[in-house]
Order: sequence, then structure tokens, then C-alpha cells
Amino acid sequence: MTAAETEVLDKTARETGMMAGKRGIIFGVANERSLAWYCAKYLYEQGADLAFTYQGEALEKRIMPLAEKVESEFVEMCDLGDDAQIDKVFDKLSKKWDSLDFLIHAVAFANKEDLEGHYVNTTREGFRLALDVSCYTLTAVTNRALPMMKDGGSVVTLTYYGAEKVVPHYNVMGVAKAALESSVMYLAADLGEKNVRVNAISAGPVKTLAAMGIAGFRDMLKLVEQKAPMKRNVEADEVGKTALYLASDLSSGVTGEVIHVDCGYSILGM
Ligand code: NAP
Repeated sequence: MTAAETEVLDKTARETGMMAGKRGIIFGVANERSLAWYCAKYLYEQGADLAFTYQGEALEKRIMPLAEKVESEFVEMCDLGDDAQIDKVFDKLSKKWDSLDFLIHAVAFANKEDLEGHYVNTTREGFRLALDVSCYTLTAVTNRALPMMKDGGSVVTLTYYGAEKVVPHYNVMGVAKAALESSVMYLAADLGEKNVRVNAISAGPVKTLAAMGIAGFRDMLKLVEQKAPMKRNVEADEVGKTALYLASDLSSGVTGEVIHVDCGYSILGM
């Protein structure tokens, strides 16, 4: 098949896909390994129009070619730790699009020194930063997206098993993810009447920029491979496919849930 024929096929697939005519904003693409990027790919293939934000100027070079691949016409810098920047992004977005159907929040941060050693040593500032960026930002962006979700919508965030059980070195990020999962429930309860659904994907470990900041991350991958019922680690693609399910009408009756995409690891007692 020629490149031109493939392009025509891709276009037709997008026009008839389950996300055709839907619009969404994605927070947290740092590079082609980011879980947010895998979500973007599946949503784009099924016809969604996508908007992106990135945190700092250094990332611009990485994200622009990716955004081009999925024909995005909206890419803005936004540090989610700053309300004024969030307001600016949604102000611009509402001038471009009159509605929004979904939002993917794939953002987390903690100081490196808080992702090694013991949780008991977490400083007040380290705690504040991790909880602010990794948890509060979901509420902040959902709040701004709401006026644009006139016909309902879907909000999806990313969490990890370290919210439920103690995982060595995950420390303050585990506490932040526990708060994030609780936030998902409270947001889902607030927004259900507006037909805005809020869910989380609890992904097994995947080698990304953020994950490599956790001490002993490679050991986590090995352990999952040995112990998980499926005897392997999850693929980033599998996270992307679940995001598609949650963002689409396929999950129309699902809200306030944390869906584990972890090859079954989280069901084990020992
Ligand atoms: P990633 O590619 O490094 O993505 C993390 C993103 O968060 C980056 O784009 C990062 O931007 C962004 N971010 C951090 N602070 C920010 C801020 N103040 N404002 C805006 N953006 C900010 O890693 P990832 O693994 O795909 O992480 C995505 C999500 O999946 C996170 O919530 C993570 O906890 C979760 N998750 C990951 C795994 C895993 O094993 N990889 C498993 C379960 C859940 P910068 O690069 O500029 O900081």
C-alpha cells in the first residue's frame, strides 16, 4: 500500500471512529514514552481532536513534533502549579473550541530525595509540592474544564498501586496518589449530575521519565514480571486503550472508579 493510500485509510478511520467529532485536552506529555502520549495516540486514531500543554520551554522541542503527528492545533505552555497559567490556557481553549468532551490528567511530581529512603523524612515543602502537583492539579483543571463540558464529559487521571499499599521508595507520591484517588470520588460525586464522569487508571510500572525518578524502579519491573498473574509488565499501549475506553461512550455508566491496568498485580495478597 502506498503512503497516500495509508493516509486516506487513516483519515477514513478517524472520520468513522468512536471519538469522531470529540475534543479533548491532554496534560502531561513530556516525550514519546509518556503515558499521556499513548492515550493521545489511541484517542487520535479514533477521531478525537486534541489539545496539549507542556510544562517548560525545554519541553517545547519534544512535544511539537508529537503534537504535529496527531494534527493538534493547540499546544500551550502551562505549569499546573500556577492557577494563572491554567486560567490562561482554558481562556485560549474556549476561544478556539466552544465545547470540550474529555480531559486527560497525567501529571505528577515529587522531589527526587522524597522518592528514596524513608517516608518519615519527608519535609513540609516536599509534601506540599508533591500533593499540589500530583493531586490538587486534577481539581484545578477539572474546575476550569467544566464550563466547556456543556454536554457532559469525561475526566481521566493516572494513579498507581502505591496509593493503596506501601511500595518501597514511592513514599510521598503514594500519599499524593491516595489523595488523588479520593479526589476522583469527590469530583465524580460533584459532577455526576452534569454527566461529567471522573475516573482513574491505576497503571502498573512503565519505564517513563517520571518513573525513572523512583529509587529501585527497575526492581519494581522485575518483581511484577515474576509475581503478577499475567507474568509480565503492562504495556503503555494498554494504558492508552483504557484511556480510550474511559474517555469514550463505551464507559458511559462508569464514574468514580479506579481501574487497575497492571497485569493483575494488585489482586495478590502475598
Ligand atoms: P512522564 O512522561 O514523565 O509524565 C509526567 C508529566 O508530568 C510530564 O509531562 C511532566 O512535565 C508533568 N509535570 C510535572 N510537574 C508538572 C507541572 N507542575 N505542571 C505541568 N506538568 C507537570 O511520566 P509518566 O509515567 O507518563 O507519568 C504520567 C502519570 O502517570 C503520572 O501521574 C504518573 O504518576 C502516572 N503513573 C505512572 C506510572 C509509571 O510507571 N510510569 C505508573 C502509574 C501511574 P515535566 O517533564 O516538564 O516535569
